[in-house]
Amino acid sequence: MADFRLPTDNIVRPDKDRFFNEENPFEAMMQRLDRAAKLLDLEPGIYKVLRSAEKEITVSIPVMMDNGEVEVFTGIRVLHNTSRGPAKGGIRFDMNVTLDEVKALAAWMTWKCAVVNIPFGGAKGGVICDPLKMSVGELERVTRRYTSGIIQTLGPDSDVPAPDVNTNERVMAWLMDTYSMHVGHTVNAVTTGKPVEMGGSLGRREATGRGVMITTVQALEHLKMEVKGATVAVQGFGNVGSIGAQLLQQAGCKVVAVSDRTGGWHNPKGIDVDDAIAYVKKNKTLEGYGKGEAVSNAQLLELEVDVLVPAALENVITTKNAKNIKAKVICEGANGPTTAAADEMLDEKGIFVIPDILANAGGVTVSYFEWVQNRGGYYWTEQVVNDRLRDIMVNSFREVLKLSMQHKVNMRTAAYMVAISRVATVHRLRGIYA
Ligand code: NAD
Repeated sequence: MADFRLPTDNIVRPDKDRFFNEENPFEAMMQRLDRAAKLLDLEPGIYKVLRSAEKEITVSIPVMMDNGEVEVFTGIRVLHNTSRGPAKGGIRFDMNVTLDEVKALAAWMTWKCAVVNIPFGGAKGGVICDPLKMSVGELERVTRRYTSGIIQTLGPDSDVPAPDVNTNERVMAWLMDTYSMHVGHTVNAVTTGKPVEMGGSLGRREATGRGVMITTVQALEHLKMEVKGATVAVQGFGNVGSIGAQLLQQAGCKVVAVSDRTGGWHNPKGIDVDDAIAYVKKNKTLEGYGKGEAVSNAQLLELEVDVLVPAALENVITTKNAKNIKAKVICEGANGPTTAAADEMLDEKGIFVIPDILANAGGVTVSYFEWVQNRGGYYWTEQVVNDRLRDIMVNSFREVLKLSMQHKVNMRTAAYMVAISRVATVHRLRGIYA
């Protein structure tokens, strides 16, 4: 029987100091929002609007399991802000999903879409379950019942999900089918990250890693560091990490360390990323790869490299290890890999951080392209997708960099300032409906 935590168990208490937890993603998001709002001198009314989620839905999901017993799961969908367009954000299936986490991730999506200026708001969803212990049939039934539970919010004009932790193209296909059955016709723009055969976009799978590569190269050029031969360590070797590493290698960098949940490998002479990807394809993980010295995930973060790409989990760079980080550039492929408390320590060391809401925005940008293609019924070549992605990533990087230099703030605060001022402007223009 699946064990689950009630989503309300983790709600942030108003007495922040008493209950302060460096690793609470909602607090981390709020601290960054507060810092940028202050610098923007945001009016109190809009600040209050941006702090709150527009809609939080919790549904119970009764599912007939393969053994004939009924199990009841909990599903959450949070729409943080839809002022700039339909809510956009992934759905994760995980035992650690909490309302707090989903709220933070939904707000992050609002800022991420705004920083790259795509016309979406922010959302996130999750089901508290352990997909690794479930059969394909059970996963399909959970997905379909969750979809019908949140159907009122879903729609190409209102709320457009995507895959996230432990969900994939297949889950999006079930979600799209369930929604289409409810409304009586096929609506492929209700979700992104679909299989290409049913309206998915070419280039979507590589988009986040491509954005990581593009922003890293921009940062190296800005810092007047040679791209050719720049040494790179990548934590996480899944969609973002492996493709980010592969494209950085193609751009001329020297990837010297890679890792996944089984640990990592360090080779100062360079790791052949294509070879490591082929190994993982065959063996599922990097365990036993052996082409270098074995390092732990904690050691990988502290290697003497030019660029560090955390592309696995949140909260891996904290006040405990920030002082030991030697990279000159950190490109946050993962969402929330650095705690808010560690930001200052990285600044003091002069480390140039490309923040998650900018660094990994390539994924949602191509999701936007997918939605545009679905709505237009006209499909682009991979080259067109990649060229348009590059334009958006380069322009967004430069815009954030310019603001960071103007205000003498780090890239994270500047990215939040760009994003928040875009969302706030729309609130001012739309006014308050009452
Ligand atoms: P994934 O599941 O494809 O890969 C995750 C990788 O991290 C795997 O190699 C896994 O072994 C590794 N990992 C897991 N636990 C680890 C640990 N304790 N230490 C080191 N490595 C560990 O996931 P992904 O899609 O690559 O996503 C990675 C991160 O990027 C997440 O934070 C995700 O939210 C974020 N992100 C993903 C996308 C996207 O388009 N896929 C977009 C934006 C942000």
